[in-house]
Amino acid sequence: MGLVESPRVPGPKYPEIPGADLYLAQDERMKGKISEIFESIQGEGVFFGEWQLFVRFYGCNLNCKFCDTKPGSFREYKLDELMSEIKKFKGQYHAISFTGGEPLLQKDFLKQVLSRTRRAGFKNYLETNGTLPGPLGEVIDDVDIVAMDIKLPSSTGLPGYWDAHRAFLKLASEKEAFIKIVVCSSTAEEDITAALKLVKETARQTMLVLQPDSFEGYARVRGKIENLRHRCRREGFNVRVIPQMHKLMGIR
Ligand code: SF4
Repeated sequence: MGLVESPRVPGPKYPEIPGADLYLAQDERMKGKISEIFESIQGEGVFFGEWQLFVRFYGCNLNCKFCDTKPGSFREYKLDELMSEIKKFKGQYHAISFTGGEPLLQKDFLKQVLSRTRRAGFKNYLETNGTLPGPLGEVIDDVDIVAMDIKLPSSTGLPGYWDAHRAFLKLASEKEAFIKIVVCSSTAEEDITAALKLVKETARQTMLVLQPDSFEGYARVRGKIENLRHRCRREGFNVRVIPQMHKLMGIR
């Protein structure tokens, strides 16, 4: 793709995640790679049921084993082109959901888009894997709601991103934020313990959403989810169990 290496942002204080520079190329900053734009109900997290406009950014720095977002294709948009495309949608939206992939991989473009949509009167809702605190710090001023993941290694099949999640949550909690944790049959108690400790130490009041792995289905993870919900309650966390509602409804 002819990408040029750009300086890491904002510096060594944040943990480095493999692939985090993938889409931060200097020569492509004014264009964004967008997979799709569509309107639908929000199907995940505490805002499920809200009517939103979705702008799906292409590419991700992770590769979770339960991922339902295929790499697929993208179209490159200049800022004005994307804004024109957004203006074609005429619904009364709760928010524009910037989703992925991982939108923060294209933080320079995202930053401009967020500023424009904000000025146009939209609420900005950022769906993110919670591993790129540096880029979040650069766009957070124009974000209204942060829906972040904590990725448990025993669920994703990947390493843990604890330091990155900690720094991320600290920033996200300046805004309206909630945390989504995908629970699979492979999810380990020690990962849950680490996640709860992280939340307790960083932003204890943040709502936790336990999301059963849709590929396995609720029946297979029900026992684990119910135990976890009890544990969260006992330990004073604000917790909900919310599946991917759009999948249950057969919509995207
Ligand atoms: S962070 Fe999200 S988009 Fe990226 S691989 Fe994981 S589930 Fe897929």
